[in-house]
Amino acid sequence: MVASEPALSVVIPMYNEESVLPLLVARLRGVLDALGEPYEVVAVDDGSTDRTPVALLAARRQWPQLRVLRLRRNSGHQPALLAGLMRARGGYVATIDADLQDPPETIVEMLRLARGQNLDIVYGIRANRQADTTFKRWTAGVYYRLMRRIVGNDVPAHAGDFRLLSRAAVEALRELPERAPVLRLVVPWLGFPSGEVPFERAERAAGRTKYPLSRMIALAADSVTSFSAAPLRVATWLGLAGVVLCGILVVIALIAYFNGATVSGWPSLYVAVLFLGAVQLLCLGLLGEYVARIYTAVQGRPAYSVVADTDEAESIVDSLR
Ligand code: UDP
Ligand code: MG
Repeated sequence: MVASEPALSVVIPMYNEESVLPLLVARLRGVLDALGEPYEVVAVDDGSTDRTPVALLAARRQWPQLRVLRLRRNSGHQPALLAGLMRARGGYVATIDADLQDPPETIVEMLRLARGQNLDIVYGIRANRQADTTFKRWTAGVYYRLMRRIVGNDVPAHAGDFRLLSRAAVEALRELPERAPVLRLVVPWLGFPSGEVPFERAERAAGRTKYPLSRMIALAADSVTSFSAAPLRVATWLGLAGVVLCGILVVIALIAYFNGATVSGWPSLYVAVLFLGAVQLLCLGLLGEYVARIYTAVQGRPAYSVVADTDEAESIVDSLR
């Protein structure tokens, strides 16, 4: 079924979301049907190991606008979003989480704003984070402050991956050579006219979070290194400071020598060796962070691989076995 271009695509990454799927389908369908315009929903099954793919195909039988992409293996939230964005056909493309933390009704507001003011990007801004834990709120605060410093103030604070893009913005994304961009930084960086719609972030409707601390740290590290070489410069400054410090110590040592003061010398030597060792290791580590990323970029492996798209292959059922 290849329909003519829909007005709106809604991309939803899903990883083991079988418990929330029925709620999502019911609520989203109500909102989108009421829109009165042709739309498609691109559900990206990110290598789920539960019954998500089966449930999606079942839902599709009653809901022809539901299109199902299946990734070969779990590739992560950002690559799953990207897979959906690259294949979405709509004149506008919204991205939303599956767990109903982002209210689907807000998509309609985003669309109205984009059309009314001729905007290419509309961000969903979390008006409150009461539903999040104190820890998540605190780390998010630090993350967004840091990102605004690095990428610039175009990065809206508390905008996650709930947003609407125009076809032009999606095409600009598609043309980027980056394999695994951090979307919430790259999208503002594109520089299209943008607006914001506040929304109340709800509790996860069902199931558990798929974002453990390790993934949050990985996202933060990718974010910093994909937009800034500043950490590399830390090494230079530490090195300079070390040189100055050593200079002072040499002068002190010379004075002590000419005054005939015999120092055992053991503590200063000990401290200097430790200090230099630490600085060198730190600098090596920082360098390694970038080298590792150059390495993966040069390998050029795709961030995801689509095994099935209900719009292209009717044999999707085979691939699910
Ligand atoms: N997700 C995904 N692949 C992953 C992890 C998460 O597609 O490897 C999806 C998940 O199904 C959900 C969205 O990304 O639709 C956000 O994940 P989650 O709600 O668990 O994150 P949180 O809201 O807790 O930050
Ligand atoms: Mg969530």
